[in-house]
Amino acid sequence: MRIALIAHDKKKDDMIDFAKRYKDVLIEHELYATGTTGKLISEFVGLSVSRFLSGPLGGDQQIGARLAQGEMDLIIFLRDPLTSQPHEPDVTALIRLCDVHCIPLATNLGTAEVLMKALKSR
Ligand code: PGA
Repeated sequence: MRIALIAHDKKKDDMIDFAKRYKDVLIEHELYATGTTGKLISEFVGLSVSRFLSGPLGGDQQIGARLAQGEMDLIIFLRDPLTSQPHEPDVTALIRLCDVHCIPLATNLGTAEVLMKALKSR
């Protein structure tokens, strides 16, 4: 599967911890990420990740464009619901596109873990 990983700044530690815990699952898939999230995952987890631009610079939109073209299969987007984001419209647009195209989307760790367990049991 083509999996996109995105984490807002205050969720980046959670994302690294998540990727370490599910490294055995993630390593079996084609991974994509926004700029900073991808850099941290490759540095601290050792997974190979194709990186788009940083989220505030258009990375979320790039992932959305891939998704709309049928080129993304699952999105893990650890959002920070307590901080306003300069690129909030892009965040909303990406979530909307997931719903338009029926692409599984986790916006918190609880759902992300359920999705990983589902992938593991395939
Ligand atoms: P980043 O982008 O991984 O480049 O920090 C994430 C985001 O804020 O959408």
